[in-house]
Amino acid sequence: MSCLNPLHQRLSPLAQGELGREHALELLAHVEVCANCARDLDLYADLVTVAASPLTRPVDRLERWRARAPKFLFVIVVGFALLGVIDQVLGPTKKPDYAALAERVEPPATDPNVVDPYASELAAALADAPREDWASVVVKLDAFLDLHPDHALARFHRASAQRALGRFDAARVDLRLLREATQGPLRDDAEWALVHLELAADEPRAALGVLDDIERRNGAYAGRAIELAERVRAVR
Ligand SMILES: [Zn+2]
Repeated sequence: MSCLNPLHQRLSPLAQGELGREHALELLAHVEVCANCARDLDLYADLVTVAASPLTRPVDRLERWRARAPKFLFVIVVGFALLGVIDQVLGPTKKPDYAALAERVEPPATDPNVVDPYASELAAALADAPREDWASVVVKLDAFLDLHPDHALARFHRASAQRALGRFDAARVDLRLLREATQGPLRDDAEWALVHLELAADEPRAALGVLDDIERRNGAYAGRAIELAERVRAVR
């Protein structure tokens, strides 16, 4: 039989982490003295484990306790696990956040020393696109690159727009191509942009691979690459 206390209704929200701390503590005080609610909290804890929520780990750790510890102790420990207290003490379950290290790398300005017969065509394509409307920027650059597939700067702009749209794979294809097909400052910029793209896409290994390359070639970003690689490795 279920407990008739209205607090019983809050067991499910507690197990799903939807209950505020104050309400949770009030409920746990009741669970300590109510066998029915203790049993139901036990069931909810199982459901939470099955659902593989972030609570899984602390609840898993408690399995060993469950067999041995007195019921009230189990209730307290599960309660605090659901509140996230145990997890804070034993270490966070949150994934390391590599994306926080990623910066937006803008395509470089046109180099005045480089003669580019399509510069005004590219500028027109970009200017026609509504500001910050990355989807139409991509459409314009698709058309431009169909005509001028070797135009590295246009490819860089497209990668940048794809990244802004969250299309990391498409952006990577363009930047990897630039690494292979270009030389000089634009290649350096493309590699540096690729590093930040890999971080934004939560691919630290790929980012470190590119950073190693930058360091080895001792290009324009070598110093910053060493520093950033250290910061990536420090994320845990
Ligand atoms: Zn109760």
